Amino acid sequence: MTGSSRRCIAVSAACACGAIAMSLDGPVMSMLLCSCLDCQRASGSGHAGVALVPKAALTIAGKPKTFNRPSDSGATFTRHFCADCGTPLYGQSSRAPELRMIAVGFFAGHNDWFAPSQLIFARSQQAWDLVADHLPRHLTYRQGGKP
Ligand SMILES: [Zn+2]
Ligand SMILES: [Zn+2]
Repeated sequence: MTGSSRRCIAVSAACACGAIAMSLDGPVMSMLLCSCLDCQRASGSGHAGVALVPKAALTIAGKPKTFNRPSDSGATFTRHFCADCGTPLYGQSSRAPELRMIAVGFFAGHNDWFAPSQLIFARSQQAWDLVADHLPRHLTYRQGGKP
């Protein structure tokens, strides 16, 4: 997998109501599934699909609403979403201000490039939420993974 995980992706989409557009153009540092309780709430399902990209690779048109919460690591995690339709956009951590954690579902219909390499926060994954058997599980954060 070395090297292949840093694919360059160019894709654009808008939220469900069209108020906010987001374009990704650049390298994807990591792709993962996250079963933390916050991702379960935000996704409305058992896990979220997340792509980590450099801040500079992301362009936003429109004004997202944000929500801050403390994460287990002591950092502040900020979710960005559309205030009108609720579509999740991306998250960021105060510990890694140059990284963006994109909700890959934002690019629905244009996200076949997504190839998660691991499941993080497997400690809160539910038995009903099926995840491919071959994906490595990490109970919380993977070293060097999601900050
Ligand atoms: Zn919207
Ligand atoms: Zn999560």
